[in-house]
Amino acid sequence: MQFLADYLAQVKADDLYRQTVAYNPVSPAHVQLNGQTCLLLASNNYLGLTHNPAVQQAAADAIWLYGTGAGGARLTTGTFPLVEQLEQELAAFKETEAALVFNTGYMANIGVISALAGPNDVIFSDELNHASIIDGCRLSRAAVVVYRHADMEHLHSLLKATVCHGKRLIISDGVFSMDGDIAPLTTIAQLAQQYNAIIIVDDAHATGVIGPGGKGTAAHFGIADKVQVQIGTLSKALGAEGGFVAGSRELIDYLKNKARSFIFSTALAPGTIAAARAALRELSVRPELVTKLNENALYVRDLLQSANIPVPGGITPIIPVMVESADTAVRLTAELRQQGIILTAIRPPTVPVGTSRLRMTVTAVHEREELAAAVDAISRAVKPLRKT
Ligand code: PMP
Repeated sequence: MQFLADYLAQVKADDLYRQTVAYNPVSPAHVQLNGQTCLLLASNNYLGLTHNPAVQQAAADAIWLYGTGAGGARLTTGTFPLVEQLEQELAAFKETEAALVFNTGYMANIGVISALAGPNDVIFSDELNHASIIDGCRLSRAAVVVYRHADMEHLHSLLKATVCHGKRLIISDGVFSMDGDIAPLTTIAQLAQQYNAIIIVDDAHATGVIGPGGKGTAAHFGIADKVQVQIGTLSKALGAEGGFVAGSRELIDYLKNKARSFIFSTALAPGTIAAARAALRELSVRPELVTKLNENALYVRDLLQSANIPVPGGITPIIPVMVESADTAVRLTAELRQQGIILTAIRPPTVPVGTSRLRMTVTAVHEREELAAAVDAISRAVKPLRKT
């Protein structure tokens, strides 16, 4: 199988070779690597709920009560009362009629998109949408029209120019995973109304992060009633695992019958479901977690700006430090790792060529002093670059 070696040689030559690194988590904000305790600025565990005692206890209790695995798909024996309770709680959280849990956010996106769109339909998709949205679009076999990132004039002109005999759908990340900016959902909603399009928003990085009580992007803009399909994940701010979709009762019943990634996979384990339920409860009783997260994000953004580090504007905890070339991103993350700071080097194909970056994520559980020290180290690493 020479093609394996050829491919690997090519990605190495292009500085795009990927490999896993085993970090040992010691807290939501710290990991151990080769015996050194490092500051983690690369996790989507935005509220630190993976290590919240109530969440951990709920998961442990559920494992003892119900076992370690679901043992069946949702439409066979895998629907426990626990998951139905979680779905009701998610619907209440999103203020929709119903919700449906998938095994991952990735599976929610591919399942929902391919169930809602078909060969006669047209999907309008932001060019920076997550890979799982892109894959969902491909699976649907609908025509896909890509608009320039968050460019509403471009979206408008494409809606106007594209002949469509079936349904139109507009799909966007709520908070963009690699850029940290927020989709212009109010304008998307206006255009959707004008062109009779269904909106699907992927709130993987918005759930528990933006909007009142962390309710997501549509709530952030006060237009939840205009977004028919809200997707989210339980694996980031909620510290568990799984994806979900919230919307009308009819939408959820339809997806139960049509979404293949829902139908043909074993349900999530009880411990995971219980953790997600407890995390949702924490989110509702401790709104200060979201406030602290947003304050920490603004604190770091201000520090970086004062240090003249090239960071696009915004308010979310996803903060991309732009370094352009893939090899620089890899070199700088290795350098910072030596100093006990973990960031992720983001390179093509995850982002367009020439826009490689250090992706920094801030959480509610980071201390100000450690954030300030990290920004100092990042500034020292990035500044020489700007002079060359
Ligand atoms: N959508 C977006 C925007 C994401 O960033 C991710 C995860 N990186 C997903 C969906 C997939 O979610 P999950 O990790 O739960 O599969």
